Amino acid sequence: MEKSPVRLLIHGASGRMGQTLLRLAAEDPALEIVAAVVRKPPAQRVVEGIPYFAASELAGVPAFDVAIDFSLPEGFDPVLALCVERGAGFVSGTTGISEAQQAALVSASTRIPLVWATNFSLGVAVLAELVERAAAALPGWDCDIVESHHVHKKDAPSGTALTLGEAAQQGGAAPRYASLRAGDIIGEHFVQFAGQGERIELVHRATNRDIFARGALHVAGQLRQRPPGGYRVRDLVGPAIA
Ligand code: NAD
Repeated sequence: MEKSPVRLLIHGASGRMGQTLLRLAAEDPALEIVAAVVRKPPAQRVVEGIPYFAASELAGVPAFDVAIDFSLPEGFDPVLALCVERGAGFVSGTTGISEAQQAALVSASTRIPLVWATNFSLGVAVLAELVERAAAALPGWDCDIVESHHVHKKDAPSGTALTLGEAAQQGGAAPRYASLRAGDIIGEHFVQFAGQGERIELVHRATNRDIFARGALHVAGQLRQRPPGGYRVRDLVGPAIA
C-alpha cells in the first residue's frame, strides 16, 4: 500500500530557507505542504496551491505531521508549543536560541519526536567528527574556528561554529571563535589546529542553501514514524558515522 504524503507546516516560509524548503518540497510527491507560516498577514492566502497563514493565526492551521522551522528565535516558542499540543514532529534549524528555548526542546522531546540542529548538511556532521578526533590527537595545540556568512546573518558566532566548538571541547581543545559578515556568503567554517612549526586546517564551504533544506526535508520525512525523542541529524541522514 502506498504511504500517504507527509503533511508539512513550513514556519518562516518567506525567508531564504523557507523559500528553498517550499521549492524543494513541491518537487517531492512524498511531501505535502499544508501550511506556509509567515510573520505578517500574507497579501495572498493561496500562492501556487500553498495555503499561507500569519504567525498570529498558528492556532488555526490545518492538521500536519511535522513542522519545519527556519525562522528567528522570537518565532520559535509558539511553533514548538503548537507541535507539542498537536502531537506533531518538530524540525528546527533556527539558530541563536536561548538557554530557556534549549530547555523547552529537551522537555518537548519527552512528548514529540524532534530535531534541532545548527546545520543540516552531511558534510558538517563529518567535519564535527574530524574536529573531535583532531582535538583528541593534538593536546595542547591552539584551536581556532573562523566562520563567514552573508551580511544579513544576525547571530555570531554561527550555530554551526558553536557545534564544531563543542566537538573540539569533547576532544579536549579550548576553541576560540572569530566571525566575518560579508557579501552573500552562504556559510564557511574553518577550523585550525596550530602547534609548534605546523598547522592543520579543516574547512567546510556551503555553496548552495539547498543542502540544508534537503537535509531538513529528509529528516522531517523520517520523523513521522519515530517515537518521541530528541534526534540528531546524523541519526536520520546519510551513512552512519563511526
Ligand atoms: P531569513 O531572515 O531570510 O528568514 C527568517 C524568516 O523568519 C523571515 O521570513 C521572517 O519573516 C520569519 N520570522 C521572523 N520572526 C518570525 C515570527 N515571530 N514568526 C514567524 N516567522 C518569523 O533567514 P534565513 O537565512 O532563512 O535563516 C533562518 C534561520 O535559519 C536563521 O536562524 C539561520 O541562522 C538558520 N539557518 C540554519 C541552517 C541549518 O542548517 N540549521 C541553515 C541556514 C540558516
